[in-house]
Amino acid sequence: MDIKDCIFCKIVRGEIPSKGVYRDDLVYAFHDINPVAPTHILIIPIKHIVGVQSLEPEDECVVGHMFYVARRIAEDLGLAPDEDLNRGYRLVFNVGRDAGQSVFHLHLHLIGGRRMSWPPG
Ligand code: AMP
Repeated sequence: MDIKDCIFCKIVRGEIPSKGVYRDDLVYAFHDINPVAPTHILIIPIKHIVGVQSLEPEDECVVGHMFYVARRIAEDLGLAPDEDLNRGYRLVFNVGRDAGQSVFHLHLHLIGGRRMSWPPG
């Protein structure tokens, strides 16, 4: 698929509307259009990267930054575990179709606001 047709690249460029929660030079975070929990945010790199399956050494910084941004957003939204390690949230990369990846632009799911079970379906 051509990068110009990538739905998340279009979101980054503002060609498709989104409900943003954070943006900087490296990443953009916005609400998932089909939330699976009270809070469901996607953190994506500004740069088009297909997924974890295509990460290159030069992408290590942006992936680390995605996790840090996720932590800050989770704290801002009151999802962070307390001193007794209650509450909490889940961070997920789906890698490939069998794992549930449907959009082939790297994205970190930040999911929270309800109790979750393990293993995932
Ligand atoms: P995945 O299945 O891991 O590739 O996740 C893709 C996610 O993108 C899904 O949770 C979708 O609900 C979400 N999604 C698809 N299109 C949009 C959109 N236009 N705005 C916000 N989220 C979207």
